[in-house]
Amino acid sequence: MTKYLLSGLLLLAFSQLHAQDTATKYAETITPADLKKHLVIIASDSLEGRDTGSEGQKKAADYVSKHFEMYGLTPIATDSAGTKSYYQPYDLYQKTWGDVFVKADGRKFAFNEDFYLNGLLNTDGEVSASAVFAGYGIEANGYNDYKDLDVTGKAVVILEGEPKDRSGRYYVNDSDQMSSWSGPQSWQKKAAAAMTKGAKYVFMVSEKEGKEFEQLVKQRGIMARRMNGMSMKPIQESLSNMAVFTVSKEVGAALLRTSPKKLSGLQQDINKKGQPVAKGPIGTVSLKAERKSETIGTENVAGFMEGTDKKDEVVVISAHLDHIGISPDGQINNGADDDGSGTVSLLELAQAFSQAKAEGNGPRRSILFLNVTGEEKGLFGSEFYAENPLLPLANTVVNLNIDMIGRVDKEHAEDPKYVYLIGSDKLSSELHAISEAANEAHVGYKLDYTFNDPKDPNRFYYRSDHYNFAKKGIPVIFYFTGVHEDYHRPGDDVEKIMFDKQAPIVKLVFYTAWELANREERIKVDSNKE
Ligand SMILES: [Zn+2]
Repeated sequence: MTKYLLSGLLLLAFSQLHAQDTATKYAETITPADLKKHLVIIASDSLEGRDTGSEGQKKAADYVSKHFEMYGLTPIATDSAGTKSYYQPYDLYQKTWGDVFVKADGRKFAFNEDFYLNGLLNTDGEVSASAVFAGYGIEANGYNDYKDLDVTGKAVVILEGEPKDRSGRYYVNDSDQMSSWSGPQSWQKKAAAAMTKGAKYVFMVSEKEGKEFEQLVKQRGIMARRMNGMSMKPIQESLSNMAVFTVSKEVGAALLRTSPKKLSGLQQDINKKGQPVAKGPIGTVSLKAERKSETIGTENVAGFMEGTDKKDEVVVISAHLDHIGISPDGQINNGADDDGSGTVSLLELAQAFSQAKAEGNGPRRSILFLNVTGEEKGLFGSEFYAENPLLPLANTVVNLNIDMIGRVDKEHAEDPKYVYLIGSDKLSSELHAISEAANEAHVGYKLDYTFNDPKDPNRFYYRSDHYNFAKKGIPVIFYFTGVHEDYHRPGDDVEKIMFDKQAPIVKLVFYTAWELANREERIKVDSNKE
């Protein structure tokens, strides 16, 4: 070995050491206290759970963009007014229930309190019909509620379930076995029977009463809101031929201008005789059920740091800004972990790199700090970015995505120094090696690859924003510390975030990004694992 080579090696070793010292200097600016300082704001009640497109989400976007500006990042998106901005706006579409009510016997009944709806209906304003009682609404051999009843153009009021005698024998089956006219899906069968007879509307009187009915209606309300999914394109929804109004006994009686007690009496008569009532009570009903379209404006927040000699290539570091908002019962889901933890990590990373740049140690490649929205509704913000990239995807070297790194899951309750890495080896073996080396040299956490296994049923690789980059062939690492009992619940609060545990993970992202942005060769895409 020659002297020159030796000194050359020494020099190389020294310069690497120096580069590491430099990285460490800036990594040390990432502190538990700073993460907390940001998160108490991002996850505060005043942001109302940062629901996609809500005022709270926009407050969070404002906070992040102001910090991007403070850190000297460049706005490279174009806002709706056509000027350069940290905001990359886009629209989401949603169909929701508008005005929905039922009026009968001089009273007005409230949607998701006095009744709920099975199926989608869109009446043309307020409509009226006469209402008739059709027993259990059953048409079967030996038991037919429609035998002597004309329901054409009318609203039929029917009872849930089917008649049975005192000994528990069901008339329809003539046995102790329920028929298909009972049970959770029987409303469809009853609606179809009523429709065939020419009925216009179906009102089903619930078997549940009092508190039980209240509970049921509440659950149905939550379900209905969840079904109002958002989409990147305007929604064409298919309305049902016939929707079913499930109502309390109170409403059922009002529809027939009778009392709940008399209605119960009629039911007992049917059960006793095993015969439909010959002539039931009648009434009238007015109702309105309106489906409306909403456009929800939201925005990704992006801050750009230009690189030096390799500035055309870009490292994208991402997290999602929004969360699930307020629960139907009024509780705020602050999403401190999901994904407040990722959002504040992004701020700390931006700050660390901008300090490096200010001191002449800026990255060779460019870095885009990308705080997307719409994640909880279907990874829409990252999808929008991947379809409308601010910088060419061909020059995008990697996406490091942080989503929920502030807590500890059951599996690691005894040993909190861990992080799940997902995706690191799927497209680039070099990325995996760089990530491992960064951890070994600087952090020393357990890198847990449980969820990287394609056979893992959770399929987390497909469940956060990085996947929209991976789909385009861009290597990704997803940083995650697992789910916990407060996942998507009001208990995901800042008090439960373990900032001391989180900070080293943010440093791991920093060291990994530092290497990816500064190394001579861009990492290669050399595999395509599931
Ligand atoms: Zn999330």
